[in-house]
Amino acid sequence: MRFLMILGHAHSSSTLVGILLGASPDVTFTGEEYDFFREDALEDYCTCGKKVGDCPFWAEVNKLLTKEVGPDFRKKMQNLHEGLNRDTIYFLGKKFPCDDECMRILEAYYKILYQVSGTKYLLSGTKKIYYSRRVLEKIFRNHTFKYIITVRNPFGAMASYLRRGVSFLQSLRIIGTFYIMAKLATLRKQRYVVKYENWINNPVQFFTDLSRKLNIQQPKWKIEYENNYITIQPDKQIHIFAGNKIRKKTKHVIKEDIRWKTELSPLQKLIISTTLMPIYKILHFK
Ligand SMILES: [Zn+2]
Repeated sequence: MRFLMILGHAHSSSTLVGILLGASPDVTFTGEEYDFFREDALEDYCTCGKKVGDCPFWAEVNKLLTKEVGPDFRKKMQNLHEGLNRDTIYFLGKKFPCDDECMRILEAYYKILYQVSGTKYLLSGTKKIYYSRRVLEKIFRNHTFKYIITVRNPFGAMASYLRRGVSFLQSLRIIGTFYIMAKLATLRKQRYVVKYENWINNPVQFFTDLSRKLNIQQPKWKIEYENNYITIQPDKQIHIFAGNKIRKKTKHVIKEDIRWKTELSPLQKLIISTTLMPIYKILHFK
């Protein structure tokens, strides 16, 4: 089993890296996985347009997981889920709410995800960095496990966070994240660092290099920027558990007050836009 984890603080384009890398025939990107354990998860939407409960990919995962760990796994994961939402506290050293039962469910979940995906790599993303470090490494210790880490100038990220109406106190989480990032940098495990400011300059080259390093087929997609809409169409069907977000397909208008200073490619505009507004407002999966 080969597993890739995208780590990054908010507004460092980690979700976009995941979506685009997931367009490779060798990679399955499933978004931020812990949403799958919410009580109302099956009522949520997948990027294929179907409800999670009706999507062939997620329905299969749900069926196999229920069979493996029992039907009440979501209830058992509640503590973990609530804990993740307070991860700012947990990374400061409080006891992490993942007991043996949680660990068993998570392990089964990833094993089944990988099995259903049928691709070389399973790619997952998270902002919950403490969780990734402590729990995922334990789960994947016997498997190939690599990180893709997106980093951005923390002041740029904070400004972007504040622009979106997040409170100043919450925006400080970005600084806190760097503490964990610094720890990750010391890991010997193979990792790929994506610097936000660099990959904007040449995103296509970035994917060419990364694909070579991972020994995967290069991801392909069509991307258009027209009349303030950005449309992205990966070359394959992708099932991202994007929650209620990406399903809002009606309006994907780029904020009118963006004035592009230089001639940028649609992909560069997309990268910048993802940090100016929620990703669901700008992406449109055909
Ligand atoms: Zn789907």
